[in-house]
Order: sequence, then C-alpha cells, then structure tokens
Amino acid sequence: MATGRQHSNQAQPLEPAALQRWLKPLQQSLQLEADRGFGDLKGRQECFSSFLARHLREGPDGGLPAEQMERLRPLADSLERYGDLSLARRQSLVRQCRERLHAVHQAHQPVLPVAPPRLQLAATTKHKSSGPGLARSTSGSWGPETPLAEIKGVGPNTATRLAQLGLFVLRDLVHYYPRDYLDYANLVRISALEPGSTATIVATVRRSNAFASPRNPNLSILELQLVDVTGKIRVSRFFAGKRFSSPAWLKTQQRQYPPGATVAVSGLVKTTPYGPAFQDPLIEVLEHAQAPVRSESIGRLVPVYGLTEGLGAERLRQALAAVLPEVQRWGDPLPEGVRLSQGLIGRPLALQQIHQPSDQEALQASRRRLVFDEFLLMQLGLLQRRRQLSQRPAPPLLLSPGDDDLVQRFLALLPFPLTGAQQRVLAEIRVDLAKTQPMARLVQGDVGSGKTVVAIAALLTAIAAGCQGALMAPTEVLAEQHYRKLAEWLPQLHISSALLTGSTPAARRRQLLQDLVNGQLQVLVGTHALLEDPVQFDRLGLVVVDEQHRFGVRQRNRLLAKGLQPHLLTMTATPIPRTLALSLHGDLDVSQIDELPPGRQPIQTHLLKAGQRAEAYRLIQEQVALGQRAYVVLPLVEDSETLDLRSAVEVHRQLQEEVFPELAVGLLHGKLNSDQKQAAIGAFASGKTQVLVSTTVVEVGVDVPEASVMVIDHAQRFGLAQLHQLRGRVGRGAAASYCLLIHDSNNALAKQRLEVLVRSGDGFEIAEMDLRLRGPGQVLGTRQSGLPDLALASLTDDGAVLEQARTVAQQITAQDPDLSNHPGLQKALDDLRRRQLDQAARLN
Ligand code: ADP
Ligand code: MG
Repeated sequence: MATGRQHSNQAQPLEPAALQRWLKPLQQSLQLEADRGFGDLKGRQECFSSFLARHLREGPDGGLPAEQMERLRPLADSLERYGDLSLARRQSLVRQCRERLHAVHQAHQPVLPVAPPRLQLAATTKHKSSGPGLARSTSGSWGPETPLAEIKGVGPNTATRLAQLGLFVLRDLVHYYPRDYLDYANLVRISALEPGSTATIVATVRRSNAFASPRNPNLSILELQLVDVTGKIRVSRFFAGKRFSSPAWLKTQQRQYPPGATVAVSGLVKTTPYGPAFQDPLIEVLEHAQAPVRSESIGRLVPVYGLTEGLGAERLRQALAAVLPEVQRWGDPLPEGVRLSQGLIGRPLALQQIHQPSDQEALQASRRRLVFDEFLLMQLGLLQRRRQLSQRPAPPLLLSPGDDDLVQRFLALLPFPLTGAQQRVLAEIRVDLAKTQPMARLVQGDVGSGKTVVAIAALLTAIAAGCQGALMAPTEVLAEQHYRKLAEWLPQLHISSALLTGSTPAARRRQLLQDLVNGQLQVLVGTHALLEDPVQFDRLGLVVVDEQHRFGVRQRNRLLAKGLQPHLLTMTATPIPRTLALSLHGDLDVSQIDELPPGRQPIQTHLLKAGQRAEAYRLIQEQVALGQRAYVVLPLVEDSETLDLRSAVEVHRQLQEEVFPELAVGLLHGKLNSDQKQAAIGAFASGKTQVLVSTTVVEVGVDVPEASVMVIDHAQRFGLAQLHQLRGRVGRGAAASYCLLIHDSNNALAKQRLEVLVRSGDGFEIAEMDLRLRGPGQVLGTRQSGLPDLALASLTDDGAVLEQARTVAQQITAQDPDLSNHPGLQKALDDLRRRQLDQAARLN
C-alpha cells in the first residue's frame, strides 16, 4: 500500500521506503547500462538516458531537499545529450550518476548520534500531595518548629531515625540538604552511554530471561537485552534469597518485560566483559514510548542524602515529600523587591527544588538562593555586631594642630619616606581615630610591605592625644622584635614603652602594671599576656594587633571587652582571600598596603629534590661570602622516629660540623626559652651567626635585612601561605634573594602546589590558591578559626554570591539598622544565633 505517497508533502521528512522505491530502479539501470557497454539500452517504452534523466528530475515521492535536487539537475541535462557523447564521456557520466545517487542514499541514512530520547515525567509529589487526604491534615497546623513525630507522613518511627541525624523539627528536615544528586535526567541513546556515569534510556526489550544462578542457589538473575536505534545493551537485576528462585516467580519476572515492550531504565552504567551494562537499575515498562513514567526517580535528578542505619533514602524522600508542600506556605524573609533585583527565586520554592529538582537549571537556581541566604545572614550578623560595638563610645583621638608634630617628628626620623600606600593607609587610620566610634580596621599588606611603621605612627597618634597604646604580637620573638624597633625611635621622641610577655620576671611585671595604671607608661608591647586580667590601662586609646591571623576571633573580642572601648587596628601579612576576610572580618574595615618599598628585587624561587641539597648549601656558601646570611627552615624541632624527617636540631649539628665548619650556624626553635630565642635571633641579626637553622618560629615578622637565602626543607609539609611568609623573611634588603624549596615527595599534586610559589610572588594570589587546594579550615587552622557554619555555601566557589549578599546586607542595614522593618530576617538571624549557641553548648 502506498500510504507514504498519500501523506507525503514537502514538509514531511522523506520516508526511507519512498527513497528506496525511487533509487533501486535507477541504480539497476545504471548497472545494466555499464554491464552492456554503454549503448543507451532500449527499454520497452524509453531508452536508458531519457528514463534516467526523467527520474532524476522528478525525484522520489516526498521529494528531496532542494540542494540535493540542484545537484541532480546538471546530470539530467547531460543525460539528454547522452546519445551524442563519446564512449569515454558516457562512462564518466554513468560513474558520476552512480556516485551522486550513492551520496543521496548516504545522506538519508539515520545519522549518529541520534537525538536523545524524550521521557514524559509524571506530575511531581508537589502536585499529588495537594490531593484531599494530605491537604486536610496540613492546613495551617505545621510550622518550622513542629516536631517531626507529629507530622503525618513522617510518623514516630521515622522521626526516631531522623533524630539520629540530628533532625528533630520540621525546619531541621527541610534544611537537611542532599549531599549529591544522581543525574537520571541525563537522557541518552544506548550508543552514547558512558561507563561510570548515571543515565536514563528509553528502549525496547528484545530478549528477557529470568533464571536461578547456576553457581549460587540463593541468587536469581533477570537479564534483559534492550535495543534502541543506536544499539543494544544488557540489563541485569539480581535477587538474593531462596524465595526468588521458584520457577513461578521467575516466570512472572520474565513476563513483566516481554519482548517488544518499551522500558525506561535509569542507573549507573558499568563496564562488563560484554561491554557497558546496567546492573540493578530502576526499570519501568511504559505503555508506549510517549507514555509518562510513574516512577519519581526515573528520568529525574535524584537527591542523595547522608543516611543512618534503618533509614533508607526512600523513607527520607517520603518524609520530605510530606513536608515540602507545607513549606510552600511559609513566607519569604527577603523583601520581594530585593529578591527580584538580585535575580533570586523564592525561598519556599528553593527549599522544595533543592530536594526535588525538576532539572539542573532549577537545582542551580535553588542552590544560589539558599547560598545567598546563608551569606546574607552571616553578613547581617557581622554588621549588627559591628554596630553594637560602635555604639560604645571610644576616646576620640582628636588632634589639635600641634599634636600632629609627634607623628611628623617620627616620620622624619625614618631613613626612608613612606610609600604611597603606607601614606594612604595611615591617613585612613587617622580619620577613624578622630571619631568617637571605635575604629575596627584590618590592614592587609604583603610580607615586607612595611606595616610596622604604619602601626607605630598610629600609636603615636593616640599618644599625642593623651592616650596609651598597646601593640600585641602572636609570638615572643615578634613582640621582642617590635619592642626593639620601638626602642630605636621612641626614646628620641620622649615616649615611654615596655615589653610584657609570659617570661617577664614578676618584679618587673608588677612595676610595669603599676606604671600602666597610673598612666606613666605610654606604649605596652607584648604577646597575649596583654589579655590577662591584671593588665589595666589608665587611658587605653589604641590597640594594634599584629599578624592578626594568628589570633582567634575570640581573643580579639576578649581584648575589646577590657573595660574601655579602644580603637582597634589589626594587621596581617597573610592576606587571607577576600571571601574569607569578609566571612571572618565582615565587621572590620579593610585597608590594603598594596605596594612594596622601592628597590626590592623579586625573590628567585626554585624547587629542589631532596637529592639536590648540596646545591642549596653551595648557594648559601656563595651568599655568605658576599656578606649575606641564610635561613634553613625545618618542620620539626627534634628527630621523630615515626616520620622520616630531618629535625632542626639534627640539621643544625650536621651543618655546623660537616657542611659549614668555617661558618657560625645558629639554632632557633620554639622549645628554647625566651632568652635563648632572643640570643639566637640577636646573633643572626648582628651577623655573629651567618646561617640560622630554625623551625617556623621565624615565620612571623622576623626582620633581618641582610638575609638573602631561605632554604625550606620538606617544603611539601607547609601550607602555601606559610611558605610565602617564610619566603618573606628574605628580600628585605636591596640584595638579590633566593628561596629554595626542597621537597621529598613523589606526589605530583604536592609538586604542583609548590610550583605556585615559583610562579607567583603575589600573596593574594597565593592565598587564593591555598584556599582552593586546602580548603578554609586548613588555611586558617581549625582551632578558633571562627569560620561560620555554612551548610551549602562554599567559601571557595561562591565568592560572587558572597559579594552580592554583602552588598544587600549593607543596604538593608543602612536603611533599617535594627531590622525592625525586616522581621523575617531578624527572626532568621535570631534562630541562627540560638542554634549556634545550642550547638556550642552541646559541644562543651
Ligand atoms: P611587614 O609589612 O612584613 O611587617 P615590615 O614592617 O617588617 O614589613 O617592613 C619590612 C622592612 O621594610 C623593614 O626593614 C622596614 O624598615 C622597611 N620599610 C618599611 N617601610 C619602608 C619604606 N617606605 N621604604 C623603605 N623601606 C621600608
Ligand atoms: Mg610585620
């Protein structure tokens, strides 16, 4: 029957059968003409050439695409003159016609890859559960605080299991986000299946066989062979248990998937000896290829949760399906205008879609909204804290014109002018100091950018206004170094200063504390001993905290809690990446010293293998001969038996006795007492020792301008930011400087990490890389890191959303400082704080 002819019109694709009906006779006639010697064979009604020319002009039923017809026309034209052509021309024309027709045939073969199949998904739970049964039970009775056990569709049994995951009330469950998703929304043809990834196919059953395993009587296997237009694949399902091996049961299984049936299959594609296969996938028989699937998983993005014993994924999904419709009735804490301007979807929808995403796009939109919310609350919290602090009055360090003299006289004492960046940051600080709100400013500046003189100038501003200043450093070594720096300048300016550390003798300490209370002592330098209770100031105006990253947020707060509210200047040379800085110090203003003093040469950094130590020692020898000095840094103080690492003590002995017998080699590590440490640094600074073997005690701030070589052994054991800090100990003078990183790891990643340092001298770039490679907890140190709890948001990947949230938080706070017009946000913030307190209480 010529059904194709009746239905054919130009718009419809050419039917394969119609094409064949047209092609076949033409190809046969060409073959025949060639076989018979190109004599323009006579048929019953017409000769070969006019037969062929006519059919080439007509084309098949349903027609060919215009450009194909275009290419047949010249052949038809030539065929009209076939009778006049030489034999050779006839041969050539016949060959051209055969090639052309072959090309037409090829062009109409199904092309691979075939477009992916389509699958009709049934309406989601969201719609189903608005059915009468559930709707009645949900009406208005469930809130975020409703215990899970009271929720219909969850029940006391499941609630007990959920409690093991720390989920007690409705809000907990809704905020229990999937760990991952199975991408069953990835619909493909069989030939495009990739082993190792999840996918969904729609295919036809060709063979179906259920049988008891020949090797294991307790195991039954259902094996299907499925086909689609692109290929075939084997699907196996395994059933463990005696009861599955009865012939009747096996027969039923087999009958469920009769040959010819259309099935949708979702699962992980595995590699087997017989090629790619699905093992234990989800399978559903469809009434026909266009019929919707009933399964809630096949063809969708399926959430994967962290589970606990006795709680299957299905039960958790059901519990969520029961509560998510209710969540849709919760309001959105974010004002509509803000939400739309930020291109965010509503929170209730986001909460539903994160658990039941309709597709990747919906999932991403949901995630972005929820990440935004986490950051927004974090930033609102920081801004509120900032506001509370700034409401306590600080001593305004107002300067009468004459007062400024002190700072000017100090700057005149320096052997160098301030860089532009130093001047700018000092000016920013002094604007803050003149206010009655306490300053809270963080100065970030790469190693060697000259933060110390800026800090001293700030302290002198406070002193000129009749206040006292404190300078706090994370280690005794650094505190003493700062103290020595101050002692160079302050006496000339008639300013009194003192040092207080854990090893200050009791008598001295008593005297010092007394001078502090009665106001005779103007600047106190020290370690966190400054935080201790007996330390009381007469009129504390400014606290400078150096190497702020070494202090926890809690210590910072403790200092601020010391009675009077001083201005606070924090400084860090470990430029933490902006996302981290905003998360931790969103309550601080940030200044950058983004310029190094002139004349510094970039530090040449090289990687060496452990076997190349001799090269490092040769360089040290050369540099010392030129009057320079060298550090050798090791991760350990003493030899460790478990780790095959060289210790500072051992390396010191070896270098002094074997490698550099003619030089003086010093030793510095954290186990030395304060005097010993000071002596070691003093000897190195004065040139009495030319090589200093050290642990990371030298990491922070030690300043010896003559040092031009930094050798770091076992470099792969250090973080990038820490290595950059260590490297910053050299290159502080005008001489060319070197940093040699010795690594004894075959790990390619470790080497790659170290290469960041060879490539880059930019502390910010290095800090970003460090964050990417090690994660925020490691970068900041897990203890006291003060990192916020983030369920979904990533400080590494969601920087852009954090910036967005911060801007919004600032706008909201500016218009509505106590959030009285944003009750939803205030409530969310209160809830968050309460949960954090609860959590802290549980941990303690
Ligand atoms: P950091 O920012 O790492 O704490 P320092 O304050 O220790 O850096 O300064 C590093 C070195 O640079 C010190 O020797 C200091 O005296 C010197 N220095 C600081 N400012 C300048 C400047 N404007 N010009 C030249 N040298 C400077
Ligand atoms: Mg410093």
